[in-house]
Amino acid sequence: MDNLDKISSEISVCTKCPLHRTRTNPVPGEGNPKARIMLIGEAPGANEDKTGRPFCGDAGKILDGLLMFAELIREEIFIGNILKCRPPNNRNPKSDEIKACTPFLERQIEIIKPEIICTLGNYATGFILEKFGLQNKIQGISRIHGRVFDADSPYGKIKIIPMYHPAVVVYNINMKRVLERDIKILKNFYQPDKFDT
Ligand code: URA
Repeated sequence: MDNLDKISSEISVCTKCPLHRTRTNPVPGEGNPKARIMLIGEAPGANEDKTGRPFCGDAGKILDGLLMFAELIREEIFIGNILKCRPPNNRNPKSDEIKACTPFLERQIEIIKPEIICTLGNYATGFILEKFGLQNKIQGISRIHGRVFDADSPYGKIKIIPMYHPAVVVYNINMKRVLERDIKILKNFYQPDKFDT
């Protein structure tokens, strides 16, 4: 049977796209294998490439602040990315890299079975909306951030909540408020009391 460790080992020897040649470490993602919330970013940056851990640099600090703001515990959720290897100079993912890499993410979703998928930025949002049959809802993140999309997955109903990528705050501190508002929306759909026994 498939499992997260198996996927991580496959990622560690993956040569499906040229990014394996320039990476230091792949970043498979981390968190609770039974997470009810999954956060999906774009691709590892320099710090992530160095450590093999998602969101551990500047964008990670902003993400940690947002999780704290919404009283969400990082270890209880799962944090992954569209690409598992760093694109040189943090350039945008290319479509053939996305095509080669996202089967790993799809398998992670199938195993974790999150009730809520929060997509961070345009790339994650476009991929996830399309994957769950909502391609007609795809718009730029400035138009759809903070909206809640209902979708059907093979394991039941899920919610997809697009947000800006936390790195926007590095360039524009005013965006912190927007991200805080959006993560509160996510938090409102996450009611541990209802499900956790
Ligand atoms: N940005 C991302 O999209 N993912 C990371 O893991 C780090 C920065």
